[in-house]
Amino acid sequence: MKQTQTAEKTEYGCVVVGGGPAGMMAAGRAAELGCSVVLCEKNASLGKKLSITGKGRCNVTNATDLNGLMRHMNGDARFLYSAFRAFGPDRVMAFFEELGVPLKVERGNRVFPVSDRAADVTAAMRRYLARSGARVKTARCTGIETEDGAVTGVRTDGGTIPCRCAVIATGGLSYPGTGSTGDGYDFARALGHTVTPLRPSLVELLSDEPLCGRCAGLTLKNCGVRLLRGDKTVYEDFGELLFTHAGVSGPTVLSASAHLRGEGEWMLAVDLKPALDPGELDRRLQRDFAGEKNRLFRNALDGLLPASLRQPLVERSGIAPDKQVNAVTKEERRRLAALLKDLRIGGLRLGPMAGAVVTAGGVSTREIRPATMESKSISGLFFAGEILDVDGYTGGFNLQTAFSTGYAAGTGAAGRAAEF
Ligand SMILES: Cc1cc2nc3c(=O)[nH]c(=O)nc-3n(C[C@H](O)[C@H](O)[C@H](O)COP(=O)(O)OP(=O)(O)OC[C@H]3O[C@@H](n4cnc5c(N)ncnc54)[C@H](O)[C@@H]3O)c2cc1C
Repeated sequence: MKQTQTAEKTEYGCVVVGGGPAGMMAAGRAAELGCSVVLCEKNASLGKKLSITGKGRCNVTNATDLNGLMRHMNGDARFLYSAFRAFGPDRVMAFFEELGVPLKVERGNRVFPVSDRAADVTAAMRRYLARSGARVKTARCTGIETEDGAVTGVRTDGGTIPCRCAVIATGGLSYPGTGSTGDGYDFARALGHTVTPLRPSLVELLSDEPLCGRCAGLTLKNCGVRLLRGDKTVYEDFGELLFTHAGVSGPTVLSASAHLRGEGEWMLAVDLKPALDPGELDRRLQRDFAGEKNRLFRNALDGLLPASLRQPLVERSGIAPDKQVNAVTKEERRRLAALLKDLRIGGLRLGPMAGAVVTAGGVSTREIRPATMESKSISGLFFAGEILDVDGYTGGFNLQTAFSTGYAAGTGAAGRAAEF
């Protein structure tokens, strides 16, 4: 049947563009404050990305305080202060518990649903929308209409929806298969907003070092990681690192990737034995070597390193693999200890945007009011979620940001719409 595309007659208080966590929160919040709301999502279902977060378990937030949140954000963290204060981790946790999603706190204060099912979080958001009275429409938005510096409507592939306020919550550019294809950046630019350079963050780091491919699949549980630009340490962390065919990944590397920006020789320095200082490590090597004096050096690291790392480390040490350990000199042993404390992986570059957990950069926070997420230049225009130039580390900080900014935008839009 041929469908004619007619414009909607009803004027809504607020049209929310994007049905991710930020958009759903904004729509539900504005509607529960009495605003007439329609949420437009181009996918057939809401929260496609939300449903795959946390490896399908959804790390909804981090059970930390305001300072803890601020320390885990990149970009203009101060911009988020009032949004976090109004709707912080305690409020997010109470919100989901009240919607029937019991939560648990894991290592590093990471909060997950007890069910370990991200789909339960998405379903709860849908219940929130239904309960608050927000309407949900499957539609792709193509732009925002304004008149005299104020929002008048949202253009969609099904016609224009007249409205007093629009919340743009279209997400970033990563995992485009979930719907996050960056449409909102174009809407923002078209309305005169600045979009700061976009780059992948919380992403695998690529390296041509053969060591990575040879160790692909190996996870180091407890290692120290430093990101260096030339000689300068830019970021330091401790925890898990994963070798991949193309480079390195895992929580420490993903967090480090948030700091890799601009030109330069980027390198990772991995401390494989963070619990031992260089002197203790040297004594440990002496003990190991003294235990089996006739052993060949290439077999001497068995108790010290996982299998796939041994051969590459033996090669890097510069010690002849067939040397008996009792012939390894003091200088060679010290060099080996230094290598174990400072394994370099060079030539680092960011992995592809499509595989990043978040997009760094976005709509400039300087042009937005922090308490309400409203544009400073266009009345009735709001932004929420990853589209903003703020991004956090792993640990639930990005969803917390989506919920806090969504809540602020929903509250702000309801207030603005009520003025008419
Ligand atoms: C694999 C993965 C795992 C992650 N795990 C976690 C985690 O455990 N904890 C955490 O805190 N963060 C996690 N994140 C990050 C988090 O998912 C995002 O930061 C968050 O989803 C951003 O929310 P958002 O609502 O701003 O955008 P999105 O979730 O990207 O939602 C945007 C929505 O807008 C819709 N849209 C786009 N353009 C249009 C248009 N023109 N018209 C209509 N609709 C449109 C899209 O289809 C999409 O549904 C993860 C990310 C990934 C990729």
